[in-house]
Amino acid sequence: MAVPACHRRARPNVLVITVDTLRADRLGCYGFGLAHTPAIDRLAEEGVRCTDVATAAPITLPAHASIMTGLYPPAHGVRDNGNYALGQEAVTLAEQLHAAGYRTAAFVSAAVLTRRYGLDQGFAVYDDDLWSEDTPPLFMIRERPAQRTADRALAWLEDWWKSAPRQPFFLWVHFFDPHQPYNRRSNDLAALAPTPYDAEIAEADRGVGRLLDRLRQQGVLDETLVAFTADHGESLEEHGEPTHGIFIYDATIRVPLIWRLPGVFGANTTYDGPVRHIDIASTVLGVLGLPGGDSTQGTNLLQALRGRTPPPDLVQYSETRLAEEGFGMAPLFGVRHAGRKWIQAPHPELYDLRQDPRELTNLYPRDAAAARPLEDALAAITTASTRRALSAPTRLIDRETEEMLRALGYIAPPEQRAEMAGRDPKDGMALYNKLQEARQLVQVDRLDRAETLLGEVLAAAPENVTARNLLAFVAVKRNELDEAERQYVASLEQQPRQHRVHGALGALALRRGDLDESERRFHLALELAPNDVEAMSNLGFIDAVRGNDAGAEAWYERAIAIDPTYPHVHRRLADLFYDRKDYARALQYYRRVLAALPEYFEVLIQAGNSARFFGDVPTAAEYYDEANRVRADSWIPSYNLACLRALNGAPDDALALLGDAIERGLASQELLDGNPDLETARMLPGWRSLLDRMQTAATPAAPG
Ligand SMILES: [Zn+2]
Repeated sequence: MAVPACHRRARPNVLVITVDTLRADRLGCYGFGLAHTPAIDRLAEEGVRCTDVATAAPITLPAHASIMTGLYPPAHGVRDNGNYALGQEAVTLAEQLHAAGYRTAAFVSAAVLTRRYGLDQGFAVYDDDLWSEDTPPLFMIRERPAQRTADRALAWLEDWWKSAPRQPFFLWVHFFDPHQPYNRRSNDLAALAPTPYDAEIAEADRGVGRLLDRLRQQGVLDETLVAFTADHGESLEEHGEPTHGIFIYDATIRVPLIWRLPGVFGANTTYDGPVRHIDIASTVLGVLGLPGGDSTQGTNLLQALRGRTPPPDLVQYSETRLAEEGFGMAPLFGVRHAGRKWIQAPHPELYDLRQDPRELTNLYPRDAAAARPLEDALAAITTASTRRALSAPTRLIDRETEEMLRALGYIAPPEQRAEMAGRDPKDGMALYNKLQEARQLVQVDRLDRAETLLGEVLAAAPENVTARNLLAFVAVKRNELDEAERQYVASLEQQPRQHRVHGALGALALRRGDLDESERRFHLALELAPNDVEAMSNLGFIDAVRGNDAGAEAWYERAIAIDPTYPHVHRRLADLFYDRKDYARALQYYRRVLAALPEYFEVLIQAGNSARFFGDVPTAAEYYDEANRVRADSWIPSYNLACLRALNGAPDDALALLGDAIERGLASQELLDGNPDLETARMLPGWRSLLDRMQTAATPAAPG
């Protein structure tokens, strides 16, 4: 029988994997002998590994925006995390593939990539619900560990697998683990990896491996174009930079990039030509035979990657505006070309990357002639990008984002920016590092050491209110509230327009129970910053304490109108009614939080508790079950369900649920023996062995 002439092989699926903060040279396939990255190494063995890849920006959101649009940051307009979003007129790879009949989905793992920043364009599913995760440590980015992101992407793949007819998919999965803080989450991987950073990379690799293995099992991996990369690297103290974002040296600019599609790309090959993140979209479209690549700033590298044509001679552009946006220092712009790097800064830099790959010897101005063509190339890219620039809406960032960006060093308070004005980041770095180190020491309660560092900063720069404000925070942590107040007042004398300092003084007054003074301070904060939702939330709280519920609600509503994605305000109101034992009203507000954030774990538990306390047992059980579904690894939902069952005539059920809770890590005798709710369960013969199980589970296994 003749094959119809119009028969064409279906287009391959597309899987883009990005691992955050992953230096190329920490992967086994890029030559790091101590790496534990078997999945990524195998991908390289089965595909083309690009050896010379540069990101457009060492910052998560701008880098991903370049990957997804094929445009440089000055063209797509997203110059930093947090206060930019990709504009609607941008055309993303997802939009193009969606239009071509692809089923699209994205799974991201960090708050800096949630949909409010615009990368959701073209994705039918954009899974950015991080509210079921643990509340991050003070100031840290809300993130989702690789295995949970992989679980959710795999669940989506199962649905896709069962769908009929099965459209090709475009799936983007983002893993965040290697980003600071480096938590040694998984003991077996931590033991294999040389540093906590490498353990996080190993954790991400495990997530990558699970995705690829599943596609292999389904028999569709060979029909899937895989592009694996990182948004940027990590300095690991090179050039005095602890993490990433301030500089554009290769430590943070060079990233891995691996392509896999058997029959199109050779196995176990390398490509040594220059590649940019902006080339990914046009190359994907090129492989699929789809138009659209020409409207990007990138180059379709399909034929070059296959070895059919010589590598195009591309200029690699990178920028960072973080020092400027965050600290008022000068921004950095640079290009890599033909073995050289040029960095435009107040003190410009030129490096010979072949002789000096660590960029330790600045050849400028000695070799100014060699810099000139690079300067011209940089100017050409800037001009071309500006000519086609999209407008990226800047947005008011929510409080949690602002706090974490600030603490991670992505944003400084305005007063600190003024202190840093126009400085070359190379010069500002020492001061920045000292303040940053002090801030981190405060977070981990190493207050004496923090105080010493801050004293040093103030000795050199007595006008530095950032150091003064941190000293005040040290005093708060020591519970020396008078000293804290003294420091904050001194800070305001230096710079009176700091609304946050008024807010901090308002919070101190609240702790003393001085509602009038607290109210006065929060009003001052609001006069200086009319959108300060934190001040509104506190003014609402003060009204509530005074018994003025209507006033409290009005403040909370006002805050919500300004930042509807700020669920803490609803939660605060709910918690208030909960503390007053007005459980019906508490539940009403928890429901409003859950309407916006259905997987907010702590709120599910609180909603369950509220329902339980006003006697609605079925509703309570529903919330606990939902909490259980959201966080299958937590003992809390099972424990609460056990209490509910024990109180409602089902002590046997309670015992079984407590068994589940122990398996999931419940290890508190007090919670079992001291809780009157469990009275009926304690009478059962199985109680003793339950306690034994808990003891056994809590005792570490003997070595050997
Ligand atoms: Zn990143």
